[in-house]
Amino acid sequence: MNIFTKSNSVCEPTKQVGFVTLVGAGPGDPELLTLKAVRAIQQASVIMVDDLVNDEVLQYASRAARVIHVGKRGGCASTPQRLILKMLVQEASNGESVVRLKGGDPFIFGRGGEELAYLEAAGVAVTAVNGITAGLAGATSLNISLTHRDVAHGVLFMTGHSKPGDQAVNWQQIAATCHSSKLTLVIYMGVSNVGFITKGLLQGLPSDTPVAVIQNASLPTQRDVVCKLKDLSTAFASEGLTSPAIMIVGNVTAGLQALSQPNSNLLTDAA
Ligand code: SAH
Repeated sequence: MNIFTKSNSVCEPTKQVGFVTLVGAGPGDPELLTLKAVRAIQQASVIMVDDLVNDEVLQYASRAARVIHVGKRGGCASTPQRLILKMLVQEASNGESVVRLKGGDPFIFGRGGEELAYLEAAGVAVTAVNGITAGLAGATSLNISLTHRDVAHGVLFMTGHSKPGDQAVNWQQIAATCHSSKLTLVIYMGVSNVGFITKGLLQGLPSDTPVAVIQNASLPTQRDVVCKLKDLSTAFASEGLTSPAIMIVGNVTAGLQALSQPNSNLLTDAA
């Protein structure tokens, strides 16, 4: 909408000031959206939707909103991050209320920090709205308390897929720290590297450390597998687990062996 101002008796349009809101869309289940996220989606004139965002959350968008998918799933090529950044600046500069919709939380392995810094440097007003991150949603879906005080002093969120050019994660060191400091380990983006990750973890954690793998957390297609660390790679192959999945490593998952989950595959040593 344009606002008209008077200048020398002539009405001239002045541009509305645009802005960007980085919104966490949560892990998939639309009921896990925050009220703030819903309000931001409702008020947006442009919505740029990332990979892993469940399209069902777009039910809250205005019919007039322009929805741009920039993810790579479903056979589409993903939009390069550089182009996404430019598009965000462009849309906001055109006076649009832009929502940048991201899976989970925008600041947990979501490049939200990079986008925020770029927009601020370009002089674009930007704020962020939390979403429920996949690690928390996956844990809660199995009634796992990530910091159960009987067995954990804290929780560590790690990526299994570092930025190109970065040094590879030292999984042996991470495992040793988790073991000595009683930390639960939650691994994102680890599917394609599961063999390498497991090998490293086995050098610092007992081989019978329980692990839960949760694929498509919070969605009707959720699958979960519980096994021992030594069986993790085999479990991925035999169960055909694919991305997106998170792994939760540590004794907080031990009780799951006794649970009867309708959609769980409880693996034994022999599996
Ligand atoms: N910002 C997101 C994470 C993006 S990184 C968040 O806070 O959740 C992408 C990784 O997140 C995936 O490789 C997978 O490890 C995890 N992930 C995202 N959605 C998931 C889901 N519904 N179930 C399981 N893991 C998921």
